[in-house]
Amino acid sequence: MIKVGVFGAQGRMGSEVCRAVQADDELELVAQVDENDDPRAFVDAGATVAVDFTTPDAVLANIRFCVDNGIHVVVGTTGLSASDLDEVAGWVAGARASVFIAPNFAIGAVLMMDFAARAAPHFDTAEIVERHHERKLDAPSGTALRTAQLMNDARGTAWRAPQGHSETLPGSRGGDSSGIRIHSVRVPGSVAHQDVILGTAGETLTIRHDSLDRASFMPGVVLAVKRVGSLQGLTVGLENLLDL
Ligand code: NAP
Repeated sequence: MIKVGVFGAQGRMGSEVCRAVQADDELELVAQVDENDDPRAFVDAGATVAVDFTTPDAVLANIRFCVDNGIHVVVGTTGLSASDLDEVAGWVAGARASVFIAPNFAIGAVLMMDFAARAAPHFDTAEIVERHHERKLDAPSGTALRTAQLMNDARGTAWRAPQGHSETLPGSRGGDSSGIRIHSVRVPGSVAHQDVILGTAGETLTIRHDSLDRASFMPGVVLAVKRVGSLQGLTVGLENLLDL
């Protein structure tokens, strides 16, 4: 049995994680920590893996606590910058604990990112439209940023920029991630949705993923909890645990 502690256990994702851990025969939920609780509860309960779905403000301190106490961490919280990831990699280098971070734990989202990266070298332009529930704290989504990064890495040459356009309403063209425009929509009733739209002469390709329920993230979270102890250092992206 793997003893699991959950940060943000009363949150939308954290409470779903608690249910998924309790439903799995190989996992045991031993501690739940929310904003005003002491994370030493994980140490006292003998947790070997912690799961974090909290906030961009809280997550780094939670990871640091776990690394310092030899507890492996699976992180789903988004909003971490590239320099945050570098900092985490520094903490975990040579440490007993390992850290696994995924901006999206849904298998369909991982495949969407993989397909988008494969398509990227074959098109002239690309834009991402992501849609989430209205209480999401960060924009754009971690998934959108990761998709753009994977597409830019796969491409190697600059995207063709539309010529001669101007914004009569500032921000209309979205954020610019190295030539890929990202548009963030926040709408009640949504969970997590993304369209990647690629264009070239006479054709477009749209790759779409919808998480309709937070249950979509749980198989990926459970897989990461079971595998994080066999990883070294920092690993980013669920694709590293899948045979794509
Ligand atoms: P949420 O419902 O607001 O839950 C966050 C929880 O974290 C709240 O219960 C909050 O408690 C708690 N919290 C805040 N500070 C804490 C601390 N220092 N220690 C422990 N708990 C703390 O948000 P959510 O919708 O579950 O989303 C959580 C994160 O997961 C977001 O970053 C979101 O983008 C991300 N997410 C990732 C994926 C993925 O697949 N990677 C999927 C969905 C969501 P209070 O309410 O008392 O402050």
